[in-house]
Amino acid sequence: MSSQIVTRFAPSPTGYLHIGGARTALFNWLYARGRGGKFLLRIEDTDRERSTPEATDAILKGLDWLGLDHDDDVVSQFESAARHVAVAEQLLSEGKAYKCFATQEEIQQFRDEARAEGKSTLFRSPWRDADPANHPDAPYVVRIKAPQGGETVVHDQVQGDVTIRNDQLDDMILLRSDGTPVYMLAVVVDDHDMGVTHVIRGDDHLNNAARQMMIYDAMEWDVPVWAHIPLIHGPDGKKLSKRHGALGVDEYQKMGYPAAGMRNYLARLGWSHGDDEFFTDEQAKEWFDLGGIGKAPARFDFKKLEN
Ligand code: GLU
Repeated sequence: MSSQIVTRFAPSPTGYLHIGGARTALFNWLYARGRGGKFLLRIEDTDRERSTPEATDAILKGLDWLGLDHDDDVVSQFESAARHVAVAEQLLSEGKAYKCFATQEEIQQFRDEARAEGKSTLFRSPWRDADPANHPDAPYVVRIKAPQGGETVVHDQVQGDVTIRNDQLDDMILLRSDGTPVYMLAVVVDDHDMGVTHVIRGDDHLNNAARQMMIYDAMEWDVPVWAHIPLIHGPDGKKLSKRHGALGVDEYQKMGYPAAGMRNYLARLGWSHGDDEFFTDEQAKEWFDLGGIGKAPARFDFKKLEN
């Protein structure tokens, strides 16, 4: 295995490139560029209802303005659907996943009964260990067999070790009843296939990491290095939104902000290097490391950007 560092930015094309996304992209770019690595771009366009070509275009333009150049071709997650299905089928054939024929009503009934008995309402499918010879001719979903007993530990470079009891992990669905792959499967397969070594993303995905590790383990793939960055808050301590004056990156461009200043500002949203406030791109690439990312949410202050 090559030891080259590979990072990626994997936005869902549902709107403009916002401050949080731009910062995630910048951190991944700095980490790779400072280490002779690769920075890849994947458009997570599996949600066909919400994904638009205009949003993809806005994201690409925003990255271009910020000077965050990527390596290799842009990957469309939707276009890799056949590969995602093939991985689910491999897990099925290896007995690491199974066809679950439980109907919505049966699942609801299971939950109601578990609740009434004061037990965990996490669905335990009766099909997990069923003999395929007894499978009905009916719609099914494909579920992965979650590990039984023990714990899963996400070794996170920002958050430290995050431990989840395996009995809190459900037999996650991999393929829906119409045969389409779920997002969680797509992310893992794509990151593996793209050779991603470091996943740096918002900490709203931290719980997903534990679930995604089930797929890495079942496929016997190396788990990437995780770094889940705290979200950005506005000056009032609430999750950053337009209300705080946070705009799409293109709006700052239109207002005439210099891209270099924006990069400097974004780099310092949640990452610090001693008392240094301003640095060149070369310094940022050299200095940026995962250890310098704070655990507390970064504060976005529009006025600071104006200065
Ligand atoms: N597409 C996801 C998002 O925009 C990112 C998933 C990931 O980085 O793993 O939130």
